Amino acid sequence: MSDLSCQLNALYAQVPATRCAGSGDCCVLTDEEFDNYYATMFPLYRAEYANIAAYVEAEFSSERSGELLAITEERPRRCPFLGPDHGCTIYPVRPMICRTYGAMNPVSLAREALRNEGQRPAVQIREFVRREGGMACPRVAVTEPQKVAAHARMLIDGGYDRELERLSEGVELAAGERQKLYRKLTGKKRWPLRWSWGGFNAVRSAPLDWLREHLASYWKKSELADAS
Ligand code: SF4
Repeated sequence: MSDLSCQLNALYAQVPATRCAGSGDCCVLTDEEFDNYYATMFPLYRAEYANIAAYVEAEFSSERSGELLAITEERPRRCPFLGPDHGCTIYPVRPMICRTYGAMNPVSLAREALRNEGQRPAVQIREFVRREGGMACPRVAVTEPQKVAAHARMLIDGGYDRELERLSEGVELAAGERQKLYRKLTGKKRWPLRWSWGGFNAVRSAPLDWLREHLASYWKKSELADAS
């Protein structure tokens, strides 16, 4: 296991484990979510993308891996990793956003908001309740309740995001001609910190001829790339 995988796993282990009904509903965008610029697996950090890409290349057939890495649609309605039986085909390496989904519910949200009142800025607590409340799911049960209080603090303080940003800073998506083209056609010096599966694929895996012909317009139309 790579050093990056180990560090991601250590971070992911802080999220309370859950058991869900496995409907796959949260892995497909509703019309409303699609219209509101949601994306499946978003935000996906660069470190997480690299971890998933390595898993796909190692575990899937070359044909399937080629198909998945060739996806450049930035916001597909259905997550490309959702299997026909509604299971997640990259479960061991699924990103943070999929792990935190449903890990808080209205009862634990209210309890943790109250516990942190006066200890953390009110605006951070309100944002925590708003964001996690939008991801509460009645079909998800938390099986590690002992982790919930520390998990809530990480969410309120932005601790997961800080660590994912730190790990992502150390990940280069590509070098040489591909990197030069990316910089020239997007005007950006650094790879996006967060994007979607299709977005990262566009700069990391698409053929160089595709980049030369399409990257400038693809980048211009991008709604989710987070790059400085
Ligand atoms: S990565 Fe897995 S859990 Fe996450 S949206 Fe895709 S299928 Fe669902």
